[in-house]
Amino acid sequence: MPTKEFKAESKRLLDMMIHSIYSQKEIFLREIISNSSDAIDKIYYKALTDDSLTFDKDNYYIRVIPDKENRTLTVADTGIGMTEEELENNLGTIAKSGSLSFKTENESKDDHNIIGQFGVGFYSAFMVADTVTVITKALGSDQAYKWESSGADGYTIEPCEKNSVGTTVILKLKENTEDENYDEYLEDYRLKAIIKKYSDFIRYPIKMEVTESRPKKDNDKEFEEVKEEQTINSMVPIWRKNKNELTDEDYENFYTEKHYGYDKPLKYINIQADGVVRYHAILYIPESIPFDYYTKEYEKGLELYSNGVLIMEKCADLLPDYFSFVKGLVDSEDLSLNISREMLQQDRQLKLIAKNIKHKIQKELEKLLKEDRTKYENFYKSFGRQLKYGVYSDFGSHKEELQNLLLFYSSKEKKMVTLDEYVSRMPEDQKYIYYAVGESNEKIEKLPQTELVTDKGYEILYFTEDVDEFAIKMLNAYKEKSFKSVSSSDLGLESDEEKKKDEAEAKENKGLFDEMKDVLSGKVKEVRASKRLKTHPVCFATEGEVSIEMEKVLNQMPNNQNVKADKILEINTHHDVFKALKAAHTLNDKEKVRLYTNLLYNQAALIEGLPIQDPVEFTNDICKLMA
Ligand code: ADP
Repeated sequence: MPTKEFKAESKRLLDMMIHSIYSQKEIFLREIISNSSDAIDKIYYKALTDDSLTFDKDNYYIRVIPDKENRTLTVADTGIGMTEEELENNLGTIAKSGSLSFKTENESKDDHNIIGQFGVGFYSAFMVADTVTVITKALGSDQAYKWESSGADGYTIEPCEKNSVGTTVILKLKENTEDENYDEYLEDYRLKAIIKKYSDFIRYPIKMEVTESRPKKDNDKEFEEVKEEQTINSMVPIWRKNKNELTDEDYENFYTEKHYGYDKPLKYINIQADGVVRYHAILYIPESIPFDYYTKEYEKGLELYSNGVLIMEKCADLLPDYFSFVKGLVDSEDLSLNISREMLQQDRQLKLIAKNIKHKIQKELEKLLKEDRTKYENFYKSFGRQLKYGVYSDFGSHKEELQNLLLFYSSKEKKMVTLDEYVSRMPEDQKYIYYAVGESNEKIEKLPQTELVTDKGYEILYFTEDVDEFAIKMLNAYKEKSFKSVSSSDLGLESDEEKKKDEAEAKENKGLFDEMKDVLSGKVKEVRASKRLKTHPVCFATEGEVSIEMEKVLNQMPNNQNVKADKILEINTHHDVFKALKAAHTLNDKEKVRLYTNLLYNQAALIEGLPIQDPVEFTNDICKLMA
C-alpha cells in the first residue's frame, strides 16, 4: 500500500501538532466531536430536502470509547461519512482557512497562538496520538475506506470493512512522558469533564460507557461498580436555557465550540424576546478582528434556527453591514422551517427581528462605552472603522444611531474622546468642532494648519483613517455644531475688526498675489495671506466639499475621477520669506517671484504629503538658491 505525502501546508500544521507543547491538549476531543456533529448535521440537512431519506433522531449519535488495554481512544459517529476522494481531500490537505499564512504574517514564534486563535481541527489529534486511524463509509456508498497516518511521513488509504454509514476515528495515544500524562484521556471521569466543558450543547447525544460506584439496591451500606451507557452532554441549546443558569464560561465555550472566533468574545448578548416577535438570540462581539475581516472574503451573518432547528448558516439579512463583526445565532418559533432564502428576505418576522437585534447591539455598545471605557476602546480599535463606514454608507441614513459610538483622538486630552465629550466642554465662543486630517497623530500634531486653532485653546480631533472625514461630512453636525477642518479656508475665528484689517492687507498685496497665482497657472484657486500660520511660511487651505485628504483617498480608488480639492495657497505675511518675495515684486524681478512661488507651492504640497509634480525642477530650483 503506497504511502502518500501530505500537502506542504498540511505537513507544517501537522508537524506543529506532533511537537506541540500546547498546554490545553484536551481540545483535540472537542475538534473531533464537532466534526462528528457536523457530519450528522449534513445528513440532517439532506433529509430536509430529500424525501428518500428520513431522519430518525434515535439513530444519530456520537460514541466515545476509551480502551485502556490497547491505549486507544475511539470516537464513532453515524454522520454522513466520507468517500475515498473526500478522505484524500479532507484529511490529506487541510486548508485551515488561511491560518498558516496568517501565522507567517504575524510571525508568531510558537504554536500557542495558532492553536489558540484558530483551533486546528482534525490534526489536533496528533497532539495526543502517535497514530490516527479513520474508518469511514459515505452515505450512499457500498465500500468503506481506512485512512491511517503516524505523522508527518504521510498517510495511507485502503478499502476496508464497515457495516454502517459514518466515521470512526481511532487514536493510539502517545506514551506518557515526564511532563505529559496521556493516560488521562482513557479515564471516564476525565473524558466526561472534557465533553461537558466543550461539547455540552452539541445537538446529538454523545454516549459513553461509564463505570460508577453505587450503593447496592438491596443493601445501601455496600457499594458496587456499575457499568452503564450514559449520554454525557445535556443537548439543551444554550439559548433555550434560563439566563441565570449560564456562566461566563458557558458563553465562552459556546463561542469556541461554534467556531465563531478563535479569540475570546469581548462581550456576549443574550436576548429572549417575547413581544410582537418572539425569538432567542445569543450574540457575540469578538475581541479581535478576524484575519479576513476587512477583505471581500469576509461574510457577515448570524445562524438562523427555526424552533431549535438550523435553517441557515449565515443569514446576512439579520445584521446591518456596520455591525457585520457580530457573531451568533437567532432562533425563532415564528419562522417556518421550510422557508426559502428568497422568501426569507421578504419575511416580515425576519425584518422585525433584524431591527430589534440592531437596536439591541447599539444599546449594548453604548452601555459598554459608558461602563467599561477600556473594553470599549479595545473594541473600537478593531471595529471603529466599520462603524464609521456605517455613518457614511447609505447616504448617512444610520448616522443618528451611530454617532454616539464614535471616538476620535483629541489634541487636548491626548486620548480617544466621544463627540459628546468634545461638545460638552467647548468654550462658549467656539462655533465649530475642529478636526485635522493626517496619516498619524504625530504627523497631525506638526501640521502648520493646527497652529491657530490650538493657540485659541480649542480642542482638535485627529482623523487618521481614510473614512474619517467622509463620515464626518455625512454627519455634517453634532448637537447643532458643524465640523470644520483646520485646513478649511475660513476657520470662523475672526472678529469683524480683524476681518477689516485683513481686507486692507489683501488690497495691499493684491498685485503680488495675482502674480503668484499666474505663476501657478491653475494649480491653486487663490493665493492669499494666511491668518492661521504663526511660524511656518506657507500651507494649503481648501474651499468647498473636497479636502486634500479626500482628494488623496478618492484618487487611490480604482475608478478615480481625478477629483481635485480647491486649493488655496496661504502665505505667512510675517515671515521673512514673504518679505523677500515682496521686495522682488517691488523690483519687478519676475524670475525671483516665479522661483519663490514655485518653491513655496511645493513646500505646501510636501507638508500635505502630496506628490511633487516635477521633482527635477524642484531640486533645480533649490540649487539655484544654494548657488
Ligand atoms: P474543519 O472541520 O474545520 O473543516 P478539520 O480539519 O476538522 O477541519 O476537518 C477537515 C474535513 O474533514 C472536514 O471539513 C470534513 O469534511 C472532514 N471530516 C472530518 N471529520 C469528519 C467526520 N467525522 N465525518 C465526516 N467528515 C469529516
